[in-house]
Amino acid sequence: MKTGRIIKVSGPLVVAEGMEHANIHDMVKVGENGLIGEIIEMREDRASIQVYEQTTGIGPGDPVISTGEPLSIELGPGLIESMFDGIQRPLEAFAERADSPFLKKGIAVNSLNREKLWTFNPVLEVGVEVEAGDVIGTVQETAVVLHKIMVPYGIKGIIKEIKSGDFRVTDTVCIVETEKGDKELTLMQKWPARKGRPVARKLKPEGPMVTGQRVIDTFFPVAKGGAAAVPGPFGAGKTVVQHQVAKWGDTEIVVYVGCGERGNEMTDVLNEFPELKDPKTGESLMKRTVLIANTSDMPVAAREASIYTGITIAEYFRDMGYSVSIMADSTSRWAEALREMSGRLEEMPGDEGYPAYLGSRLADYYERAGKAVCLGKEGRIGTITAIGAVSPPGGDISEPVSQATLRIVKVFWGLDAQLAYKRHFPSINWLNSYSLYEETVDNWMNKEVAEDWSALRKEAMALLQEESSLQEIVSLVGIDALSEKDRLKLEIAKSIREDYLQQNAFHEVDTYTSLNKQYKMLKLILFFRKEAEKALEAGVYINEILNLAELRDKIARSKYITEGELSKIDGIAAEVTATIDELIKEKGGVLNA
Ligand code: ADP
Ligand code: MG
Repeated sequence: MKTGRIIKVSGPLVVAEGMEHANIHDMVKVGENGLIGEIIEMREDRASIQVYEQTTGIGPGDPVISTGEPLSIELGPGLIESMFDGIQRPLEAFAERADSPFLKKGIAVNSLNREKLWTFNPVLEVGVEVEAGDVIGTVQETAVVLHKIMVPYGIKGIIKEIKSGDFRVTDTVCIVETEKGDKELTLMQKWPARKGRPVARKLKPEGPMVTGQRVIDTFFPVAKGGAAAVPGPFGAGKTVVQHQVAKWGDTEIVVYVGCGERGNEMTDVLNEFPELKDPKTGESLMKRTVLIANTSDMPVAAREASIYTGITIAEYFRDMGYSVSIMADSTSRWAEALREMSGRLEEMPGDEGYPAYLGSRLADYYERAGKAVCLGKEGRIGTITAIGAVSPPGGDISEPVSQATLRIVKVFWGLDAQLAYKRHFPSINWLNSYSLYEETVDNWMNKEVAEDWSALRKEAMALLQEESSLQEIVSLVGIDALSEKDRLKLEIAKSIREDYLQQNAFHEVDTYTSLNKQYKMLKLILFFRKEAEKALEAGVYINEILNLAELRDKIARSKYITEGELSKIDGIAAEVTATIDELIKEKGGVLNA
C-alpha cells in the first residue's frame, strides 16, 4: 500500500497528500504510531482524516497509510455485556478504573475476544441450501441471549460442511459451496458502520414498547420500531429517562450509547445495570446489554462514529429477530463533534455553525430504527426502537439539533426545567409533548389491556389541558369564580399530575408500573371523579369531597401497591363508592342503583 504524507494537523483533523489511491470513508493509520483515523473528505490526492485518538506528537511529513476498508464493526458472540468505545474498541479497563486512560494510542485491538471459546450448536445439515440471513446455528451467549449465527450478506449456496462444538469467533464452523467457490463461515462477521444492514421488507410499527413509565406508556407511547427524542436542559432528567427506558423497556436487547456526557454517568450504568434484575428473566440486565461509551473526556472524533457503531450492533440483533432498543445520550454532544470537524474542514457553516448536512446525518441514524422482516428464509421479524436525548443550550428547542431531530422522530418527550425544579419527575411536559403513534398504540391497548384504555387516556388528557386554562382564570379572578364542578376538575387534574404522572425512578415499587397497574390507577382516579360529580349533583359541597383526606390519600398512594397486590386498587374503588354514597345519603339524596 502506498504511503501518503501529513501536511497539516488541526486537533482531531489531519490532512495528508499523496493519497490518490484511497477512498472516502477508508480507515487509515496515521503517523509512526499508526493512530486510527477515517477519511471524511477527498480532494484529488488530498485526504482529510478524522483521527479517533489524540493527535499530539504527530506532524507534517509523518506517514499515512490507508487500510482500504471502511470503519467496520465486528458482529458475533461477545458483544453482550461488553463496553466499547465509539469505534468498537473494548474498554474493559474502564469498568475497574473509570478515570484511566483507556487505551494506548495506535494499538490495534480486536473488538471481539479472539481467545474465548463459544459452544456452537448447528441447526442445519450438509446439503441444505442457504442464503444471507439464514440461521446456521446458535450460541448461548449469556443466560438470556441466544445468539443466532447467520449467513452473511452476499453469500448463497449449499452447506458443504458444518461443525458442532467449541470455537473461537474466527474459527470456521461452516463451509458453503457457492457459485464463486467455497466460503468459510465463522461465528463472527463484519459490517461497515455507516451503512444500514439490509432487510427483506420494512413494516409499520404497531404495538408499544412498554417502558413501565406511566407518563410515557399512557400519554406519549413509542411504538416498537419507532423513534423518540428527549430534549431538555441540564438536570431535567434526560439521563434518568434513558436509563429507565433501557432498564424497563420490554425489548430483548439494549444498546446504550453514552455520547459525550460525563464519564461518571457511564460508571453509573456500569454499577447499576449488573445489579438490576430483569423482571422477565430474573437475570442481571447486563446479560442483554451492549454499552458504547465515548464520554466527554475521550477523543471527540470517535464520538461522531459512536452512534453508527451502536446502531450497527442494534441492527445485527434485529436481524436475529429480536426487539432491540438503542439509547443515545446525548445526540447534542454528537452534533457538537460533527460541528467541530466541519469547522476544521472549513466547510460553509449553516445554522449556529452546524454543517448543512446535520439533518441528513441524524436521519442516517434514526432511519435505521424500525420494524422489519429480516433477511433469511425464516422471515423473522425484528425491531429497533431508538431513543435520543437532546440537550439544547438553555433548554430552548428552537436550536438546530432539536429541530432537525423533531423532523425525523415521531415522539417528543419534552422535559421541562420548571417541572424538574418543582421536583415533578419525570419532568415530561404533558402540554407540549406528543406521540404520533398514539392512535395505533390506542388500538393495541384497547385490545390487549382494556377496552376503555383510550377513553380513559383521553379523559385524563382533556382534564390536564382544561386545568391549564382554568388555572389562568383562577390567577385572574380567584378560585371562588369557579363552579364546583370546575373546582373538582382542578382537583382531579392535580391528582393525575401528582399521583399518576409523577413517578420516582428511585423508589423500589414506583420505578416500574405494568400496563395493567397503569390502567387500574388511572381508572381509580377517574372513577373518583365520576362518583364525586354524582355527589355534587346530589347537593354535596365540594369541600366535603375535598375533605375526604384518608380516601384521597389512599388513591394517591396506589402507586406504591406492588404488582402482586393489584386487587387492592379494586378495594380502594369500592371504598370510593361506599364513602361517596355515605355523603349523598347524609344529604338525603337518592342513590343510583
Ligand atoms: P439530565 O441528564 O437531563 O442532565 P438527569 O437525568 O441526570 O438530568 O437528572 C437529574 C436529576 O433529577 C437526577 O439525578 C435525579 O435526582 C432527578 N430525577 C430525574 N428524573 C427522576 C425521576 N424519574 N425520579 C426521581 N428523580 C429524578
Ligand atoms: Mg444527562
